[in-house]
Amino acid sequence: MMQRYGLEFEVLSNGAIQYYEPALSPTIAKAVLLPDNKSIRDPYRLVVKLAEAAKAAGAAFVSGAVRNIERKGDGTVVVLLEEGGRVEADSVVLAAGVHTRFLAEKLGEPIPLETERGYHTQIMKPGISMRYSMIWPARAFMVTPTAGGIRVGGNVELAGLDAAPDFRRPRVLVRHAQRALPGLKLEEATDWMGHRPALPDTIPIISPSSKMPGVFYATGHGHLGLTYAATTARLIGDMVTGLEPSLDIAPFRIDRY
Ligand SMILES: Cc1cc2nc3c(=O)[nH]c(=O)nc-3n(C[C@H](O)[C@H](O)[C@H](O)COP(=O)(O)OP(=O)(O)OC[C@H]3O[C@@H](n4cnc5c(N)ncnc54)[C@H](O)[C@@H]3O)c2cc1C
Repeated sequence: MMQRYGLEFEVLSNGAIQYYEPALSPTIAKAVLLPDNKSIRDPYRLVVKLAEAAKAAGAAFVSGAVRNIERKGDGTVVVLLEEGGRVEADSVVLAAGVHTRFLAEKLGEPIPLETERGYHTQIMKPGISMRYSMIWPARAFMVTPTAGGIRVGGNVELAGLDAAPDFRRPRVLVRHAQRALPGLKLEEATDWMGHRPALPDTIPIISPSSKMPGVFYATGHGHLGLTYAATTARLIGDMVTGLEPSLDIAPFRIDRY
């Protein structure tokens, strides 16, 4: 499949594997190197920098939980906040992750959005260093070098929005990672759980509302929300400003449900 789509890859066997990534166990006999793969070393800093750039370009920030969306007679969209405030706009983009389903329901267009909960462990003193992100598909985990230590992540837990995190799950991921990376130590580690906004067909919703003109959706990106963020922003930007999107958005429409 990678050949068909023109993606660079190299099949490595023992010896070459340790040449590229010395921390990997010599018991690993085969690996595939994707030389063009990229990863973000510091997602938090990326978001801060994006916010700063938006501010410098004239964006204003209003913080608050959105309670409902209404439309006035003149076409203005009104965003009502829990705390009682309101924001009026020509267009509104709903990008509240899995919580977007509550807003969609209020607009009369329910979507089968569910959380695929995932975990990671951030290890500040891992005892090893890594050059590449690594995925072991059969054991469903990945390890990524970050700006501060190494991150071991993965897991899919279908337990809804309210259940407490089960931090036994990331321990299992770390144990799997230690089989691939025998020198990996679990020192100064913190655990995290997050929500992946997932749809049954795994295709995101990047779409105008089918119920309220001026409202747009950007949600349901599942396991790849960071990867798809820039493309989604481009498509939504085109829709909001009335430009022809650069690709056919039919597969992403909300009214497919
Ligand atoms: C363990 C794990 C590893 C992952 N690894 C990767 C990866 O390697 N690459 C990748 O591309 N993706 C990865 N993802 C997936 C990625 O995190 C998600 O796809 C992405 O966060 C979805 O972004 P979002 O903005 O749609 O939703 P979210 O990130 O959930 O953001 C939604 C925001 O809306 C806010 N909100 C909710 N309701 C309201 C309301 N009523 N009013 C106002 N605000 C509201 C929330 O507080 C939140 O800040 C991973 C996820 C997990 C859990």
